[in-house]
Amino acid sequence: MTTTALIDFPSHNPATGEEIGRYRNYTAEEVAAAVDRAHASSQAWQALGFSGRKKILVAWNAVLTKRLTELAELVALETGKPLSDATLEISLAIGHLDWASKNASKYLAPVSRNPGLIMANMKARVERAPYGVVGVIGPWNYPVFTPMGSIAYSLAAGNTVVFKPSEYTPGVGAWLGSTFAEVAPFADIFQVVTGLAATGAALTGAAVDKIAFTGSTRTAKKVAASAADRMIPTVLECGGKDPVIIDRDANIKKAAEYALWLAMSNAGQTCIGAERVYVHQAIADEFIREIGAMAKEIHPGVNKNYGPATMPSQLNVIQSHIDDAAAKGAKFLIGGVDSVQPPYVQPTIMLDVPEDSLAITEETFGPTLTINRVADMDEAIRLANATRYGLGASVWSKRNGEKIASKLVTGMVSINSVIGFAGIASVPFGGVKDSGYGRIHGPEGLHEFTYLRSVVSERFALPIAFTTFKRTKFADKFITGVMKFLH
Ligand code: NAD
Repeated sequence: MTTTALIDFPSHNPATGEEIGRYRNYTAEEVAAAVDRAHASSQAWQALGFSGRKKILVAWNAVLTKRLTELAELVALETGKPLSDATLEISLAIGHLDWASKNASKYLAPVSRNPGLIMANMKARVERAPYGVVGVIGPWNYPVFTPMGSIAYSLAAGNTVVFKPSEYTPGVGAWLGSTFAEVAPFADIFQVVTGLAATGAALTGAAVDKIAFTGSTRTAKKVAASAADRMIPTVLECGGKDPVIIDRDANIKKAAEYALWLAMSNAGQTCIGAERVYVHQAIADEFIREIGAMAKEIHPGVNKNYGPATMPSQLNVIQSHIDDAAAKGAKFLIGGVDSVQPPYVQPTIMLDVPEDSLAITEETFGPTLTINRVADMDEAIRLANATRYGLGASVWSKRNGEKIASKLVTGMVSINSVIGFAGIASVPFGGVKDSGYGRIHGPEGLHEFTYLRSVVSERFALPIAFTTFKRTKFADKFITGVMKFLH
């Protein structure tokens, strides 16, 4: 039986394994039909203009805000994360929906351009037009925040959206779809197609005009290949192996506290979570003492610091990274080879981890952290960049933060703080290398969901014509003379 042959599929509470709901497993035909409907409603959504769309999106945001706790409970149930983390996640998403709906008119307005001396008789402007229908494919780790970065910005820019949520959080996806329907002036502006991987693949093969994908690099490559087949653009938000760099003049206590949170919160299932620390050897012992003492107070469990692994199969990946580091000679500050205790993973901090270990080279996506000492910041930067990923980074230094940040090959950096860039709606979010390409959030996130149209028109006719077969010898002489004069 193929996966698309299943009519529905279950959603589970990852802490207990209990089935908490069943959702439709949309077939390729049903996905294609949803995309067709999205095309049919596209013109009417565009015709509402920025102010009309803003009204709808603001109304949707009011529903999200009013029912924040209800949504947070659903997120907590499907992902296993603490309610407080779910609340924070949704609050950030609300901030983005607000920003996108209120700033689209400003950043997507047509811009006049100087036509230049030779073309001075022309008027020129650049417009941004919505693609039409955007297919959004989302992950489970932040099932509201991550897809909202594409959904809100796409809708605000004038696209209709078909959203395929992760099969681990279909209930959250369905909730977003049904609350949007409550405020929608007509149907099929924002549709949700729940399903397994095949439903996502069907969306990439359907008649969408752009795909916004958030998930693993492995799947992103399949999405990009499918999109290339149809010559449609993609924005790919993929995995990371984010470093935390700590210089000798850093606030050590604060760096330890924040690095620990960045590594362990959400059970380490954060694309921009800390996976590696490079700390200056002069302060390494003190930093390790501090983070070790704090880590002893962190515990997984229901209503504890973090929850279970949302996706059971990830436990094998985490175990293999821990085993590989241990076999290669890493020491354990906290945790050990027995850290994985399904469905939970105990906080695990490894020291002096060889740079060719899986825990350094591959995304672990668990509550684990490696700490390696470096002789200076040049070494820290070199090692931080020596990965196939390039998503975010955190830098800790009183004097050298900007200098270190400027040398990192990543899409985002927080100095003396962590993941600030995710909460500031006006800055773009995204990565380089295997972490993906394109940007969500901020003006660039709005631009991402539009294509450019250059429009030029004649203001007055010149006495000499160039773009005609009646071009004269004088015109040739004139253009040569002007070029020589100008250049
Ligand atoms: P995943 O790649 O397994 O799945 C993501 C989505 O793609 C799911 O909805 C899935 O059903 C769908 N899918 C699977 N196969 C598909 C195919 N062939 N075609 C189209 N869609 C398909 O990722 P995941 O496990 O859900 O999420 C975790 C990953 O996401 C991690 O690597 C994490 O770093 C990354 N992530 C990145 C960001 C970011 O903004 N850069 C944010 C959150 C998560």
